[in-house]
Amino acid sequence: MPKPVRKPELPKAAPVAAAVAPRISPLPLPVVAGPSLFESMDKIADDTLPKIRQDLGECTRCKLHSTRHNIVFGDGNPKAELVFVGEGPGADEDAQGLPFVGRAGRLLTQMIEAMGLQRKDVYICNVVKCRPPENRQPEEDEVGTCSPFLLRQIDAIAPKVIVCLGAVAAKTLLQTNRGISQFRGEWLEFRGRKLLVTYHPAYLLRNPPAKSEVWKDLQKVMAVLGLEVKKGKSA
Ligand code: SF4
Repeated sequence: MPKPVRKPELPKAAPVAAAVAPRISPLPLPVVAGPSLFESMDKIADDTLPKIRQDLGECTRCKLHSTRHNIVFGDGNPKAELVFVGEGPGADEDAQGLPFVGRAGRLLTQMIEAMGLQRKDVYICNVVKCRPPENRQPEEDEVGTCSPFLLRQIDAIAPKVIVCLGAVAAKTLLQTNRGISQFRGEWLEFRGRKLLVTYHPAYLLRNPPAKSEVWKDLQKVMAVLGLEVKKGKSA
């Protein structure tokens, strides 16, 4: 009788609770000389984006896999100084396998260009890599299952600044239930890196007056990255 064929096991993601060091630091942001012992233990030595993508595989770890067309892993400069983290893919992203390529994505591109950068200069990814049906918010179990890969991406890229686009990204990385209006535009710290939360471009499409607030936030990021803020230029 032929032996039953064993399905290869997908590598398991690290538990998110252990992987995230929940810290919202008061202003001003303290300068961190190096990772704490706790943070060091959570990091995977010599991790790279291709390795993380390989570990993710054709992921079926959460229920979002059943309705997706493409995994949207992330896109951009693997050594970017600036990483944008969104919530999850929408229909356009699901179809193309790329983050932020729909209407909200075009607005994000404009925001990046207004900063004097191009998309290829930054890295763009999401908390969950598969599209939630009907563009609903990702559920807690989905975020918990997928976000360890986001943490690995951030650690592998080692950016100077992380910008969370919207509440889901902010709450995931900061492990808080506080409304983002309480800390939007403030410098916070995440695993020894500067983190700033601003509105999601999809929110800006619904609320164009909020663009001026986002532009102020992005100017703070530009100052940290040493980018020139041109007088009179606005988003
Ligand atoms: S959302 Fe993340 S954890 Fe869930 S199936 Fe997709 S890649 Fe896997």
